[in-house]
Amino acid sequence: MAEDTSYVIVGASLAGAKAAETLRAEGFAGPLVLIGAEDELPYERPPLSKDYLQGKAERDTIYVHPRPWYADNEVDLRLGAAVTGIDRAAHAVTLADGSRVEYGRLLLTTGSAPRRLPVEGAGLDGVLYLRSVDDSDRLRAAFTSGARIAVIGAGWIGLEAAAAARQAGADVTVLEVADLPLLRVLGPEAAEVFAALHRDHGVDLRFGVQVAAIAGEGGRVSGVRLADGSTVAADAVVVGIGIAPNVQLAREAGIDVDNGVRVDAALRSSDPDIYAAGDVASAFHPLLARHIRVEHWANALNQGPAAARAMLGQDVAYDRVPYFYTDQYDLGMEYSGYVEPDGYDRVVFRGDVAGREFIAFWLDGSSRVLAGMNVNVWDVTEPIQALVRAGRPVDPAALADPAADLESLAGS
Ligand SMILES: Cc1cc2nc3c(=O)[nH]c(=O)nc-3n(C[C@H](O)[C@H](O)[C@H](O)COP(=O)(O)OP(=O)(O)OC[C@H]3O[C@@H](n4cnc5c(N)ncnc54)[C@H](O)[C@@H]3O)c2cc1C
Repeated sequence: MAEDTSYVIVGASLAGAKAAETLRAEGFAGPLVLIGAEDELPYERPPLSKDYLQGKAERDTIYVHPRPWYADNEVDLRLGAAVTGIDRAAHAVTLADGSRVEYGRLLLTTGSAPRRLPVEGAGLDGVLYLRSVDDSDRLRAAFTSGARIAVIGAGWIGLEAAAAARQAGADVTVLEVADLPLLRVLGPEAAEVFAALHRDHGVDLRFGVQVAAIAGEGGRVSGVRLADGSTVAADAVVVGIGIAPNVQLAREAGIDVDNGVRVDAALRSSDPDIYAAGDVASAFHPLLARHIRVEHWANALNQGPAAARAMLGQDVAYDRVPYFYTDQYDLGMEYSGYVEPDGYDRVVFRGDVAGREFIAFWLDGSSRVLAGMNVNVWDVTEPIQALVRAGRPVDPAALADPAADLESLAGS
């Protein structure tokens, strides 16, 4: 690619900022434009439901790079600038103000957005979502001692918000349509651990409930009405019912989209000059031999740089084992692997499950490790990922035995 070819990144996100960093680190000296709809510098989202939300981390700790980094590295950072269209024939993107930016190669890191609650009253004041730093500020203001907080959805965002609210002294009720939290991700065996965790911290967990409407008074939320006719009184409602990838630009431009922007293992879309990375990308994963879309921090962190290298013409096959983590109260967890809902045969536990210090392994019918989750046990991510990557049958009894060395099991 000639030096005067412009590289344009849409989405001033973690994936986008990391891609820009890699392009420069790999020696790309041509024009580089990073465009973001938000007014903020690219930032990390995990603290927004953890330390930042709890007031334990300052705002300047969340940024991917400090402000001067962009000018120092000749990255033309355009914030508060939404891209409204991709003109593939002209190799240009259009911005909301009508201006155009030409590209030789384009990277989409547009991420995802929270699904909105589709019920009456969802537009009332005090119905809150958690994606941006401003959202986190709104939650923090609502989480006061004695406030009644209803959380709709017991996924990662809902549970982390519930933990932060409890730690601020709020009374918290979690409303979930399934029979356990995180059921689709973890299955019943391990999901129970998170139910117990929140119950032990005084959260009122209500499973198998359907939200019918948000009740309000004078334009402000007063509670959540359930399908059984009862109402849960609330001063604020946090909605965490999942996210959807921001694929509009790609779809309107006629690029292949399925559950995200469909890309190959080199993160290249159906248009050879357009790439995608992070939450928005549905990428072919060589290890799993299928397309997956991963909505987690490590994927954005690593796919951005991988896409940058591919855009520079390097040979790239993104095959990292999917990884994510959570922190709730005094529980820290890391999860490596990928399991479809109900896509496993059995779960093997090693360690003290009741004491929340253990590793869980998800196995298929041939005793191959599909995923592993370490809870309050550290420095085991590498052997767990090696077990997943090896794809060989492992003796379940040895997996369950804390005396059996994980590295040896992965290597054997
Ligand atoms: C509160 C919270 C807590 C989280 N905690 C964890 C955690 O503990 N562990 C974990 O593994 N993951 C966590 N995640 C997930 C992780 O943060 C995401 O996977 C990651 O942020 C995805 O990064 P991304 O670069 O793909 O896009 P995003 O972070 O979604 O950013 C995309 C950016 O693109 C911009 N954009 C979109 N469309 C346009 C357009 N047309 N023009 C210009 N700009 C556009 C958006 O405004 C946004 O700024 C958390 C997420 C949230 C919200």
